Amino acid sequence: MSAVSPLTAKLKAKIEADGPLTVETFMDICLNDPEHGYYRVATPIGRGGDFITAPEISQTFGEMIGLWAADMWRSMGQPKPFNLIEFGPGRGTLMADALRAGRIVPGFLEAVELHLIETSKTLRAEQERQLCVYHPHWHEGLATVPPRPSIAIANEFFDALPIRQIVYQDGAWRERRVGLANTGFHFLAAEETMMAGLPHGEEGEVKEICPSALRLIEDMALIAELHPLVMLIIDYGHREAGSGDTLQAVARHRFADPLNMPGRLDLSAHVDFAGLAEHGRGLGLRVSGPLELGLFLTRLGIGERLQRLCHAAPEQAEGLRAGVRRLISPAHMGALFQVMALSAHAPAPIPF
Ligand code: SAH
Repeated sequence: MSAVSPLTAKLKAKIEADGPLTVETFMDICLNDPEHGYYRVATPIGRGGDFITAPEISQTFGEMIGLWAADMWRSMGQPKPFNLIEFGPGRGTLMADALRAGRIVPGFLEAVELHLIETSKTLRAEQERQLCVYHPHWHEGLATVPPRPSIAIANEFFDALPIRQIVYQDGAWRERRVGLANTGFHFLAAEETMMAGLPHGEEGEVKEICPSALRLIEDMALIAELHPLVMLIIDYGHREAGSGDTLQAVARHRFADPLNMPGRLDLSAHVDFAGLAEHGRGLGLRVSGPLELGLFLTRLGIGERLQRLCHAAPEQAEGLRAGVRRLISPAHMGALFQVMALSAHAPAPIPF
């Protein structure tokens, strides 16, 4: 018998009524159900949570992003006010470190209007604690953010957006769905997909599509029709399309079965950078990267920043060095994570 959660009964009833759910609907309910969704109820990030993210590993991560944003703002002609948008700010750590570092660029903080896109009430409360001095505005999505010159940041946000999976079986690409099994849920290859232009597949091959990520790029492109814009996307993911089934579940820093304990596990999927880049280009956006995170941070000067911090606080040097190593070393996050920028009406973003 697989483990149950409060969402299990709700999902079972829905499948009994409507038939098997697409992977996208299943993932969306697990993460975003208003009552029991993972991001509505859990405290996911940090040592006591399920996973740890770059800004929680080292303050230098947010600082580098802050200096990057201030530099972009300067090269955009110092618009005032401008939107500094963060998608899924987590505990607010990245933004707090970024704005502290951005202070050294004259006029930057005075021009910032901070917009945080966040659905979790628990995390909004943490963000409020860290960022209240900057008077942030919270949003459920991009639609309510005023159209203005904008600099947007998304760290480990796109991987939390629900994906569709299609699987090649019996000579056709089929929608992968989640149905009921004796003891819980199981995957099945259902109806043939109507998507045009799909290549011939290998039996059992899986492809992923993230409709809400594509819609988000479209919404950014709408802002970019009238205003300078640059958006930084940082996530684990692949440069080339077609890397198969990447849906994964994590609980307490360990991998788990994505169909188990719905709503209790963090579900995510690799970000398809090639697909996002192609979509962005099609909408007239400039695409820079993707570049490996280690290279991105090194080119921005994380080494120099680390040296300065170690010099100022020698007793903390060991911990500081270990944090930066984890971010930039190819054996850790340095090569697994990619950084890509989308922009319009702005000089080419550094440091691609
Ligand atoms: N960027 C943070 C947190 C990453 S976790 C960090 O690096 O530490 C993903 C974040 O996105 C969380 O804050 C989560 O609550 C938020 N989130 C997930 N899905 C969302 C959605 N559909 N809309 C808005 N926020 C979402």
